[in-house]
Amino acid sequence: MSTTSPWEAALSQLDEAAAILHLDPGVHDILRNPKRALTVAVPIRRDDGVVHVYTGFRVHHNTSRGPSKGGIRYHPSVNMDEVKALAMWMTWKCAIVGIPYGGAKGGVVVDPKDLSKRELEALTRRYAAEILPLIGPDRDIPAPDMGTDEQIMAWIMDTYSMNVGHSALGVVTGKPLSVGGSMGRGDATSRGVMYVTEATLKHQGRKVDETRVAIQGYGKVGAPAVRLLSELGCIVVAVSDVNGGIHNPEGLSPTGLAAHHAETGTVMGYSGAEDVSNAELLTIDCDVLVPAALESQITEDNADAIRAEIIVEAANGPTTPGADEILHDRGILVVPDILANSGGVTVSYFEWVQDLQAYFWDEDEVNMKLRSIMERAYVDVLRTAEDRKVTTRTAATILGVTRVAEAHTTRGLFP
Ligand code: NAD
Repeated sequence: MSTTSPWEAALSQLDEAAAILHLDPGVHDILRNPKRALTVAVPIRRDDGVVHVYTGFRVHHNTSRGPSKGGIRYHPSVNMDEVKALAMWMTWKCAIVGIPYGGAKGGVVVDPKDLSKRELEALTRRYAAEILPLIGPDRDIPAPDMGTDEQIMAWIMDTYSMNVGHSALGVVTGKPLSVGGSMGRGDATSRGVMYVTEATLKHQGRKVDETRVAIQGYGKVGAPAVRLLSELGCIVVAVSDVNGGIHNPEGLSPTGLAAHHAETGTVMGYSGAEDVSNAELLTIDCDVLVPAALESQITEDNADAIRAEIIVEAANGPTTPGADEILHDRGILVVPDILANSGGVTVSYFEWVQDLQAYFWDEDEVNMKLRSIMERAYVDVLRTAEDRKVTTRTAATILGVTRVAEAHTTRGLFP
């Protein structure tokens, strides 16, 4: 079993980029440490009357390029090291797409499926109240991640607004349209995944309609990715969720699968496919593998068995550094998370801009601006990889670190 934690992986990626860049040791040291990291106790009264205390985190990795931005995760395995890693990746991601944010992340150690709706609201409002000193439209702007959704964002917005005495739409993104959400935000991460997949296939001279895709995860990112990649013309041959996966070499119907999932809450048992295990899904016969669930899924233990020739990382940190080396040696192209899934934070940025201006755009405008930012970032990463003769992951990290380091140097060190 691979034992590399997401934080160790994030540090090793930074260290590699810093060595190539001959980064100033002081700036390197600043970037190795999160700016601030808060742990909070989140007590709520459960429906049976008993008080239960959950643990929550909010980390600001860096704010040199602007307020910090990053999702909130509700998952039983959330821990400080994971949140720190996810916050660091947010810093590079925002710099790669050129939006004026630093990186942050938050989370609560909880399985949201174990809570009633009332308990979930209580947990969210209390967590928001506990991290209140850190968040704000000009300080730190949370968003959804695993286990959280637009309703949870609306509760955070309301809690913050009640505390400051006025409605502050720009304090979180990924909100419902009725309270300042943006058109296109729901699909944005998956749409970005589609844009970079399209660009990669074009770059490699591959035919879209002959490209077979396997997707791990059928949540806010995975499910729209099935639909959008099918719309692009790809053949989605396998999909999984926490319960297991399904496979049909002829292709899955995105609408049939969506209807089955809406009815049963899982992709398993879909009549148009045969069931496979989660482990099998990752090594299934396909051209493009899209991990869209958890981190550390492609490891030294299974990297040799991956059959895809391209991996588009919709999830954060799905590949360990050891696996990265194996994939590189095998000639498998990895479109790294900090580029591939940056569509979400990009449209979150659009949402925040619209909230601050109280002026909202239509969906075509959102998607057009997203495409233009993603395509530019893709070209920037590819060019850096070619110029420096490094992998696309190292190139993406180099690009992010360079832009953040430049902001540090320009601002100078306080005091
Ligand atoms: P989600 O909670 O909506 O969905 C997660 C999906 O993964 C679910 O289908 C779940 O069943 C599945 N899953 C969980 N464990 C699994 C396992 N062991 N094997 C297979 N499937 C498993 O979460 P999400 O928002 O879709 O996030 C997925 C990933 O994308 C995370 O890494 C997240 O950080 C990243 N991401 C999300 C966004 C966003 O806008 N939501 C943006 C950028 C990156």
